[in-house]
Amino acid sequence: MRSLSYIRAKTVREATEAFAAAGEGACYISGGTTLYDLMKLGVERPHHLIDIASLEGADRIDTGGDVLFFGAGALMADVAEDEVVRRDYPVLAESLSKAASQQLRNMATVGGNLLQRTRCPYFRNGTIGAYPCNKREPGSGCAAIGGLDRTQAVLGISDACTAVSPGDWPVALTAMDARIQLQGPTGERTIPIAEFYLLPGKTPHFEFAIMPGEIVTGISVPKTEAGRRSTYLKVRDRESYAFALASAAVALAMDGDHVRRAHIALGGVATRPWRAREAESLLNGRAIDTEIALAAGRAAFADARAGKHNAFKIELGARTLADAIMTAGRKMQ
Ligand code: SF4
Repeated sequence: MRSLSYIRAKTVREATEAFAAAGEGACYISGGTTLYDLMKLGVERPHHLIDIASLEGADRIDTGGDVLFFGAGALMADVAEDEVVRRDYPVLAESLSKAASQQLRNMATVGGNLLQRTRCPYFRNGTIGAYPCNKREPGSGCAAIGGLDRTQAVLGISDACTAVSPGDWPVALTAMDARIQLQGPTGERTIPIAEFYLLPGKTPHFEFAIMPGEIVTGISVPKTEAGRRSTYLKVRDRESYAFALASAAVALAMDGDHVRRAHIALGGVATRPWRAREAESLLNGRAIDTEIALAAGRAAFADARAGKHNAFKIELGARTLADAIMTAGRKMQ
């Protein structure tokens, strides 16, 4: 068995150089709340850990400029409790508060949270050969298709993988058109969050648009008046410490009673944080009532495809979105 090495980097350059020097089996770690879990399960087996939790300035939170900026190393708890975020962008604060217990929010970072892996039970069974899983072992097959699929996705699925993208925070960020800042051996770049998460297609083992050695360094969110009239609704099997069966992030810019611009994303039902453009189009220019809210919910799931045990997610997801639209619509500017 190979031993595990560990170093703590102080700068991004130090981290990327350490990553390149370590070679195969190198892995960045920050809060560790996802990675340690997967290591214990035998799903992740890194040989070199490069700790980026103490990178200079990585925990910066700046809500005073043209955009909201969150350093990747900022704690989920600190962003969720930020006064401006809570007041002007409740969808962001609520998604973080509902994502994990207070203990986890005190440890986990907003950058690390973007990189959570799926909770698909077959993926998380790290015993080699126990179940086929294309995400863990490319080309091995998918035990979830035709298996126990109650919690699997109904949107964005492929014949190779139906695993749900597990996050809440990434769903809220998707609704709010966030951009992800990355830094690696070849420099810095920023990409829209819609390009950061990959559909499974034939290659579900590629989940994020990150190049080898790159680090997520920050998240920026454009400021918008829609933030004040926003909400994140999460439906799960139990109220605490559980992943979404269906969730919806909604933010509305209004002209009087009419929606000028809707921002909508879904969680718990799709293979990546799911922008619901059809629902947005249906709401834009309309006054909100329960009928139109449910029609928007149904439009969001028009292309959904269920497996053996998860058809309930289509109606649950539509109604969760309808509830979130009504809640956001009732909020005062
Ligand atoms: Fe693996 Fe995806 Fe199939 Fe789950 S759904 S077993 S993660 S390939």
